[in-house]
Amino acid sequence: MRLSQMLFVTLRDDPADAEIPSHKLLLRAGYIRRIGSGVYAYLPLMWRVLQKVSQIVREEMNATGAQECLLPQLQPAELWRESGRWDTYTKAEGIMFALTDRREQELALGPTHEEVITMIARDMIRSYRQLPLNLYQIQTKFRDEIRPRFGLMRGREFIMKDAYSFNADEESLKKTYQDMYQAYSNMLRRSGLSFRAVEADSGAIGGTGSTEFMVLAEAGEDEVLYTEDGQYAANVEKAVSLPADAENSPFTSYEKRETPGTETIEKLCDFLKCSPTQVVKNVLYQALYDNNTTVLVLVSIRGDQEVNEVKLQNELTKLASEYGGNAVLKLIVPDADAQKKWAAKPLPLGYVAPDIADDYIQSTKDVAPKFLRLADKTVVDLKNFVTGANESGYHVVGANWDKQFTLPENIVDIRKARPGDRAIHNPEQTLKSARGIEVGHIFQLGTKYSIAMGATYTNEQGEEKPLVMGCYGVGVSRLAQAAVEQSYDKDGIIWPVAIAPYHAIVTIPNINDAQQVEIAEQLYTELNQAGIETLLDDRNERAGVKFKDADLIGIPYRIVTGRAIANGKVEVVERKSRNSQEIHITEVVSTLKGWISQAVS
Ligand code: ATP
Ligand code: MG
Repeated sequence: MRLSQMLFVTLRDDPADAEIPSHKLLLRAGYIRRIGSGVYAYLPLMWRVLQKVSQIVREEMNATGAQECLLPQLQPAELWRESGRWDTYTKAEGIMFALTDRREQELALGPTHEEVITMIARDMIRSYRQLPLNLYQIQTKFRDEIRPRFGLMRGREFIMKDAYSFNADEESLKKTYQDMYQAYSNMLRRSGLSFRAVEADSGAIGGTGSTEFMVLAEAGEDEVLYTEDGQYAANVEKAVSLPADAENSPFTSYEKRETPGTETIEKLCDFLKCSPTQVVKNVLYQALYDNNTTVLVLVSIRGDQEVNEVKLQNELTKLASEYGGNAVLKLIVPDADAQKKWAAKPLPLGYVAPDIADDYIQSTKDVAPKFLRLADKTVVDLKNFVTGANESGYHVVGANWDKQFTLPENIVDIRKARPGDRAIHNPEQTLKSARGIEVGHIFQLGTKYSIAMGATYTNEQGEEKPLVMGCYGVGVSRLAQAAVEQSYDKDGIIWPVAIAPYHAIVTIPNINDAQQVEIAEQLYTELNQAGIETLLDDRNERAGVKFKDADLIGIPYRIVTGRAIANGKVEVVERKSRNSQEIHITEVVSTLKGWISQAVS
């Protein structure tokens, strides 16, 4: 392709609305253009990158025996009602774009395709002989993200590869999952990314095990906790660890103390001269279930620990049926305004005890009359602890479970693991923290969708069984931008060779020099014929401008038909290392071929 004929517009300055380097660079280098919030046009250079990523993804998927298809983006609400996700996705998370057509039928723009694929499986899979099966597609997804940002990283319209497997049993699912794990590792390695596979939370999608593939980069929205022995890595949402040991309590007898102005743990511990590990902190949450029931949740956790709200939400989802619901729509720490809806009298916030009376709740038909009391594991073994006295300005010290307080029945792990915590698999290892960009997520779904939607098959014994499912996503457009986030310098993008829009760019320093032009044209033709995807900068611009642009757009090899042509040579510069060497014109094609095949192997 000739730059003189391309839509080629680069910007010298950083665009005002871009925050992270990869977003700035893709805009400046003319790869993408913002059309609206979270909505971008992929311009020709970007589209080539996306197609390269897609092709790598496709090859790795095909190698596992998965089959490509294309599912509809317009999805009938009926399907989502069958799976029970219509309300969660349109109201709770509100992430799905829903619309009503001219016949008053409700539809959604696909944020994901479990429902559609399960419908197909229900209709078409009859027998164990058809299993296992893995179908995938590469397609635009729509999600009404609360905070679209960072360009392609979190768009409202983005490209995803999603795959769905159907297996006869858990064992077969595990095998497919393992194949996907390997395929994902291959995709990311081949795309030139440095990444980590981590244990992940399964979120609203449901199911059991899941792994996220994180591209390591400072700008990542996710925190990963890992150990240096390589035995453990998890998203902080999911991570577990051993908490620090609790210190022995200095309080030997139970008493109520006046503790004015100590509504935070720090102030309390200063005042009482004790360690936060001797305090039972009681945190109030307000959960809204999908049947419109509000439940007040009191979490008792050790004073030095924080609540992991993802884990808490998962526990509340498990308890949903006790309140007649299926899912948690909203989970908040209720502020004064939220308390108005249910508080019968002002709460002694900051001084709450595990046994705060239920008559603080003004029960209505939509508000559960009792606190749901949950104890994090960290409080179970505490002796002579400090906690609130249910009266503003007062705490109790020297308290014990089974004496002054009853340990809640629901004992759960809802603490946030932190860097520096000891690892469970080996307490000599401590957790370290890194930032990551989630580019892929693989799930063992189990039978959640197949049972909800009645997708069954007949096994060898002639029994009808629900299909066991897995699902596997890769953010193709996010991955492409993540590659930039991991690889750039002050002058621009440095594409990994495997996903660069072009391998090489031939730059003519002076287009008025006939010999420069002739050699450039000849190399441009030969390189392309040899399968080396090459650009020709034949614009009537100064050499300096052309070099700057070539650096900015990040093409791996630049060939300059400058002074060296007098000796039958051209200058070849590698973008990544900036190494420059003069190579005989006749050897350019073979040299580049060698470098490229080495770089993508
Ligand atoms: P996140 O936690 O980042 O919102 P997710 O858990 O919602 O991601 P999945 O539903 O598992 O993501 O989707 C599969 C993949 O699609 C993700 O791993 C990610 O790479 C990509 N992806 C998800 N949401 C977006 C988005 N808004 N923009 C771009 N890519 C996305
Ligand atoms: Mg999301």
